[in-house]
Amino acid sequence: MSVFNEKSFDHHELVVFKEDVNTGLKAIIAVHNTNLGASLGGCRMYPYADDRAALEDVLRLSRGMTYKSALAGLPLGGGKSVIIGDPHTQKSRDLLLSMGEFVDSLGGRYIVAEDSGTCVEDIEVIGEKTKHISGVQRHRQHGGDPSPTTAYGVYRGIEAAVAHRFGPVRGCQGLKVAIQGAGNVGRHLAEHLIANGASVYVADVSQCNLNQAQALGAKVVGVDEILTLDVDVFAPCAMGAVINDHSISAIRAAVIAGAANNQLARPEHAQQLDKRGILYAPDFVINAGGIIDAYYQQVGVDEQRMISHVDTIATTLGAVFEQAAQERKTTHQVAEDLAEKIFQSANRAAA
Ligand code: NAD
Repeated sequence: MSVFNEKSFDHHELVVFKEDVNTGLKAIIAVHNTNLGASLGGCRMYPYADDRAALEDVLRLSRGMTYKSALAGLPLGGGKSVIIGDPHTQKSRDLLLSMGEFVDSLGGRYIVAEDSGTCVEDIEVIGEKTKHISGVQRHRQHGGDPSPTTAYGVYRGIEAAVAHRFGPVRGCQGLKVAIQGAGNVGRHLAEHLIANGASVYVADVSQCNLNQAQALGAKVVGVDEILTLDVDVFAPCAMGAVINDHSISAIRAAVIAGAANNQLARPEHAQQLDKRGILYAPDFVINAGGIIDAYYQQVGVDEQRMISHVDTIATTLGAVFEQAAQERKTTHQVAEDLAEKIFQSANRAAA
């Protein structure tokens, strides 16, 4: 299996594997870059089709965390971990303790938080074996889960994107937004949008999550329909690679702005969106609320300051949109270039 030549490897500092036959743990930790500080990122548990798919996922996600934290102005590097397995049937206390030992073996170079397939309780168990954890402060309004903060950041990002695309007075009143995935982020995002006068459409494969979104006032549509709805904003809040060769021509929204990581199947899809006149809010900029939240939990700073920091997502996005328009580049390219300048100059400063 070739790894170093993979595009997603992209000069990772460290990629480590652990198999524990006693607990069934099969996990990978990827640390992309620590120029700005220790890497902080979630631990995803998912029944990957094979090891290759798990490796590809962890590499893409950890690289994304480097870019996300740099542009969010955090003193953090990029890292992520994956556990190969079904979180509903294969997760056990012993497996999580084994994961804790794995995280601890990196001596703080990687700090773990929750992600798809893991929750606050799981990170607390992992924390019995390592102090390098985040996202477990239960005493806050929403507990340790950073999803409500991610949703708030996406909401502020949608406001910025709509202002850029339709003019500053447009606002959310009467705005039509299609949210793909009414999970932890999608649901809270729907709440913000509806409270501010938007019409919200949601699609999900989980009836339970749909019921909750419907109770908030969202209209339910089919999973195949959500992408092609005639709306102002399409907000991907489910899985990655949703903007791909098959979907791109069917999207009718003028703006794409949502929480999902790695929304573009390939970087060139950013150019295709541009050609179609669709404004794309780069995922690693707009969904930074979660990492900002996790960082403030880690250092123990109050929530009000954290929310003010999340508000800067709108300013950063506005600057990315302006620069992209002036330089005739895609928003994705501009955001990547800006992030690289930040973490690469930190490297030079440290050298
Ligand atoms: P979640 O698992 O709570 O919600 C995802 C939802 O998408 C679920 O309700 C699931 O049923 C639904 N879904 C799955 N496949 C679907 C499909 N084909 N069509 C429609 N819906 C489908 O996850 P989340 O925490 O809400 O995160 C959503 C996305 O945002 C993920 O990609 C995640 O990586 C990303 N993200 C989350 C955070 C955070 O703080 N939670 C931070 C940054 C990025």
